[in-house]
Order: sequence, then structure tokens, then C-alpha cells
Amino acid sequence: MYNTKILLPTETNIELCAKELFDGEVIAFATETVYGLGANIFNTEAVSKIFKIKNRPPDNPLIVHVPSVEDVRDIAAYISDDAYKLLYRFSPGPLTLILKKKQSIPYIVTAGADTVAVRVPDNKVAIKLLTATGFPLAAPSANTSTRPSPTCAKHVMEDLNGKIKFILQSEDDCQFGLESTIVDMSGEHPTVLRLGSLPTSTLLDTLPNIKIASSIENGVLCPGTKYRHYAPNIKVDYVAFNKLTLSSLTKIYHNNKNTVILTHDEVKLDLTNFEHINMGSIECYAKNLFSIFRECEKKYQSIIAIGVSDKGIGRAINNRIIKASK
Ligand code: AMP
Ligand code: MG
Repeated sequence: MYNTKILLPTETNIELCAKELFDGEVIAFATETVYGLGANIFNTEAVSKIFKIKNRPPDNPLIVHVPSVEDVRDIAAYISDDAYKLLYRFSPGPLTLILKKKQSIPYIVTAGADTVAVRVPDNKVAIKLLTATGFPLAAPSANTSTRPSPTCAKHVMEDLNGKIKFILQSEDDCQFGLESTIVDMSGEHPTVLRLGSLPTSTLLDTLPNIKIASSIENGVLCPGTKYRHYAPNIKVDYVAFNKLTLSSLTKIYHNNKNTVILTHDEVKLDLTNFEHINMGSIECYAKNLFSIFRECEKKYQSIIAIGVSDKGIGRAINNRIIKASK
């Protein structure tokens, strides 16, 4: 058991965390998507601690984080011109590419696959940490498996208190609040395997031949997405935005005990007679979704989350709510 500490991102604290990682330990750190739980990819014992701490199934591979686009070359055996296009356009940022792995990448990181997931986070503290360590970090979200991903240090503390020594904060914690978008660039056809903070419409502007995996909602291609995910420990009902009516909402509301409706700016219904929280714009909904899940489980017995229209980051929000409702 550790006396887990939340650290401000001072140079001394970044060094302290880098030293901990160098010693084969695991620490949590902020990124622009969600908090990550990092370990040295070349230290298999350290990586195995990530699985143990998170209670993560061993067949669920990890995303490798590197400090710059140039460093992706140390991870991937081959990077196509299209993959470079995406890398130079969207990295650093919430984009993860699946590429053929270099032999040096241990199989524990890729869960036995010959491909590897890699990304460059767009967060100053994360980049400083990666630069200070000098090795890439395998870093899945810093939550217990199945729980909502952590978007502030307090969430990491809720799940991992006593299990790690340090949680490294940053001034601009998780401005997106949803995980990265994962694109498989290892095969013939670029394919989106997981929806995320980078909207697919934006990706399509750069690479018009990108496909969205037809199985994206059941996660056959992206091992991690097949598991129950992102869920608070109370019931979640998802109401699709295009099927929303006051009568359908009223019915679900009265079927539930001690429930709250998550609504947003696109919804024009009068909800004054319902317990509800307005999540605001689509961007705010994305940023605060996991956080509101964690708050609601302390106050309510169920959540009715109204989905958003499918544009921009909307489809990723709907995807997370649907996963949480299963
Ligand atoms: P997390 O970091 O918790 O968001 O989880 C990482 C996600 O990346 C999981 O859903 C994994 O299944 C996915 N992933 C990592 N490596 C690969 C890979 N080589 N092929 C397909 N998906 C991957
Ligand atoms: Mg995760």
C-alpha cells in the first residue's frame, strides 16, 4: 500500500515521477484526453503492474505514448505515407494510430499482437514527463477497468488510492475529457476502430478513404472496446437524440427510482418538472461526461442520458453513453 500523493507539475515533481518510472513503478499523469496510468514499455514487470492495478484483462493492449512524431519511428516497423499524413496533421493530439510493431516492443504491451497503438499526447506536462524519462510510456486510462475514465486527479484517487505513489496533475487537465480516436493504419484500408476526441469528420478531411469499422459499437476489432466500459455503478439509460420525445422520456423517468436526466443545449424540451442537469454544449458534454457519471453515482440510483446529434464529437459521446448503459 502506498500513501498516494497528488503532485503539482513542478520541475522537481516531474523529475520525481520520471525517477519512479525509471525504477519500474507505475504513476498516473494528466493528458489532454483522460488521465493515463504509465509504465516503461521496455520493462515488462512494470507493464504487468498496470494490468494488475487496473484489473485489466491481459488481452486488452495498451497505447504507447511518445513525446514527438519523430519518436513514433522507434515504435513502428513501418509507417505508410497516409499514416505520416495523419501524424503530421493531428499529432500531438487525441489520435492513436495502430501500426506494425517493431520487434523491440514487448508483447505484453500489445497483448500478443504484431501491431502497436501509439500516440503523441498534447499536454505540456505529459511531454515533459516523457522527455525526462527518455523511454516511451504504455498508458491506458488511469481508472479501474469498467469505471468511467478519470478526467481529474480526484477521480484517479477514487479508483487507485493506495495502489500507486503519484498522480501528476497539469494546469490544463483533460480539456477533451474523452479518450483518443484510434485509427488502424497497419492494413490496406485505414479504419477507425474507436471513436474519440478527434472527430472522424476531421480525419476524413485529411484522408478521405478512411472507413469506420462496421463493428465499432461492439468492439470486435479493438479488443478493449468489447468490454463493459465507462460505467458508473448505477444504472444508465441512453435515449437517442433523434428518438427523443417528452412522452418517451417521461415513461423512462417514472420507471426509474431516484433518477436524473442529463440533457444538453440541443434539447428543446421543457424539463422543469424533472430532476435534470444541463451538460451545455457538445464540447462541454464530452469534457464533463465521465465526471458527471462519478458525481451522479453518489446522489442518484440511475441516470437517463440524452444522446446528441452525430456530428463532430457527438458520435463519440453517444458511443460512451451506450457502452455505459450496457
Ligand atoms: P485505453 O488506453 O484504456 O483507452 O485503452 C486502449 C485501447 O486501445 C483499447 O481499447 C485497446 O483495445 C486499443 N488498442 C491498443 N492496442 C491495439 C492494437 N494493437 N490493435 C487494436 N486496438 C488496440
Ligand atoms: Mg480505458
